[in-house]
Amino acid sequence: MQSELHTTPDAAQTVVIIGTGGTIAGASGSATDNVGYKAGSLSVASLVKAVPALASKALEAEQLAQLDSKDMDHATWARLARRVEQHLARPEVRGVVITHGTDTLEETAYLLQRVLAPSKPVVLTAAMRPATAIQADGPQNLLDAVAVAGAEGVRGVVAVVAGQVWSGLELRKTHSYRLDAFEAGPDAGPLAVVEEGIIRRFRDWPLGEALGATLLPEDSTGWPWVEVLGSHAGADGRALDAWRAAGLQGLVLACTGNGTVHQALEASTAALKQSGVPVWRTTRCAQGRIVGAVDEPAGALSPWAARVELMLHLLQRG
Ligand code: ASP
Repeated sequence: MQSELHTTPDAAQTVVIIGTGGTIAGASGSATDNVGYKAGSLSVASLVKAVPALASKALEAEQLAQLDSKDMDHATWARLARRVEQHLARPEVRGVVITHGTDTLEETAYLLQRVLAPSKPVVLTAAMRPATAIQADGPQNLLDAVAVAGAEGVRGVVAVVAGQVWSGLELRKTHSYRLDAFEAGPDAGPLAVVEEGIIRRFRDWPLGEALGATLLPEDSTGWPWVEVLGSHAGADGRALDAWRAAGLQGLVLACTGNGTVHQALEASTAALKQSGVPVWRTTRCAQGRIVGAVDEPAGALSPWAARVELMLHLLQRG
C-alpha cells in the first residue's frame, strides 16, 4: 500500500509520512460523535490533503497499515521499524512522521527508539478526535509533527500531540478523552513545545544505541511471549501458574506503590523465576519510579514500555 503524495525539487527537505491508522484517520457518521467512530478509515494521503499548509512542503505519504492501534501487532511493528529505517537511510529524507492511534502509541514509540535510535527525527502523531469531528485535532497535530520532522537539529523518536513534544522513551497516555492525553514519566515533562511551527526545546532529544530493526522477527510467532500482570487487592496466583504452564517467557509485574507485590502472588512468582523466566518489576502508579531498585532494569519504565524492553532483551539473548 503506497501512495506518493508529492515531491519537490529540494529533495534534502523531504519528510516521509507513514500512515498506520488510528483515530487521526477515524471517521464517524456524525460530526458531534467523538467516541462512536471507526479508527483507521481514511488514507494518510487524504489526511495530508486536508491540511492546506502542507501543500507547499516536500512530502511523501505512504500507507503501511490501517489499524485501530488497540490492535497493533508485532509483525506490523517489525514492518514499520524496517520501513522507517529504509527511509532514514535515504540522504534526501530529513525525517519521518508516523500517524498512529493514541492507545498504543507509547509502545510503538519506545520500540522504535530502542531499535533505531535515529540521528534524524522520527515523529509519531495522533489525534483524540476523529477526522470528522467538529473539534478534530488531527490536522494541527499533523502540521506540528511535520514541523518537528523538518526542523534543524531534532533527532530521535518523539511524539507530537496537542502542541507538545514527548520523548519516545518517556511518554504515557494518561487520559482517555482529553485532547492533551499524554504525559511523560517518571516525573518528566515534555521535551519541547511547537508554537506556530516553531519548536521551543526544554530538554535533550532521546539518545541511545540502536539495537537494529533486524532484531525484530518479521513473523509474530518469532516474538517472545511476555505478559504484564497487575498486583491488586484480592490477587492470587492462578493466572500466573496457568501462564507458566503454557510457556510464558517473560513477566512484567505492575506492582503496587514502590514495587510491592501481594503476598498471594509470591509463590507463583518465585516458581516462575525458578523455571528461568525473567520477572521485572514496575510500579502501577501513574508517576514515579521504584526507588531503591537500582539493579532492576524496569523500575523507571511504565509496565507497557517494560514489556517492550523485556521482549527486546529476550530477542537479543536469542
Ligand atoms: N483506538 C484508537 C487507536 O488507538 C484511539 C486513538 O487513535 O486515539 O487507534
